[in-house]
Amino acid sequence: MSVIYPRMAVIGCGLIGSSVIRAAREAGVVGVVAVADASEAHRNRIVELGYADEVTADIAQAVKDADLVVLAVPVLAMGEAAKAAAAALKPGATVTDVGSVKGSVSDALAAALPDSVFVIPGHPIAGTEHSGPDAGLAELFQNRWVILTPQARTDEPYIEAVGQLSEFWRALGANVDQMDDRHHDLVLAVTSHLPHLIAYNIVGTAADMEEVTQAEVMKYSAGGFRDFTRIAASDPTMWRDVFVANKD
Ligand code: NAP
Repeated sequence: MSVIYPRMAVIGCGLIGSSVIRAAREAGVVGVVAVADASEAHRNRIVELGYADEVTADIAQAVKDADLVVLAVPVLAMGEAAKAAAAALKPGATVTDVGSVKGSVSDALAAALPDSVFVIPGHPIAGTEHSGPDAGLAELFQNRWVILTPQARTDEPYIEAVGQLSEFWRALGANVDQMDDRHHDLVLAVTSHLPHLIAYNIVGTAADMEEVTQAEVMKYSAGGFRDFTRIAASDPTMWRDVFVANKD
């Protein structure tokens, strides 16, 4: 496959950010990869894993000259990350995100970013309960849906940018759909956000009960409960942000 974006910047290189890099490199659709991550431990690990050509804590430095910017930080950090990138963005760059909530993130990106770039929010419906750069999988997006929630723009350059981003995700193995951002949040509340909220609460309740019943909760827990514990092992910061941002 030929290169779609000569320079890609990924902001936040945990499970999803590092999976995007691994899948995009394997598909051959990106050239230079720059990463900005707030965590020093993660930056060191990203260098060790050889994911990126440039690794920095400075978002503006990473996005300079980028053709594609992928924001892959927790949902409530998207607006600040976009603000930090705004002044350094190349005109004509595409800025997307992978946040699990789309309404509030789309609003935050639209407010933070200049008109000279193409803002195309997105959400890959793929993940695991693991987080951090070691969790990245090149095959994470294979046969999974990526939902893009484009802005209400009908100009030809924007339509072309949406087409190019769709082609990028398809090269990573995904199926691409488009949806209104508020509708996305309603659908995902039922299919993903509520199941996680329920799992956290069931496992939390069992943990409280364990003090009373000691080993019995673990001893007699059936397969259904084990499935809840896997879901409830997901990153609490990420999911706190999702519940707060999609509480309506
Ligand atoms: P993750 O593994 O925790 O990775 C996030 C990375 O971003 C971490 O290295 C984190 O560092 C860093 N970070 C946090 N705030 C930052 C900031 N302001 N600037 C730069 N770096 C920052 O999280 P993830 O699971 O990949 O989730 C990332 C996004 O993908 C979220 O918006 C989530 O909603 C979305 N998503 C997740 C899944 C899933 O199953 N996990 C699926 C689809 C979409 P620290 O660890 O130091 O905070």
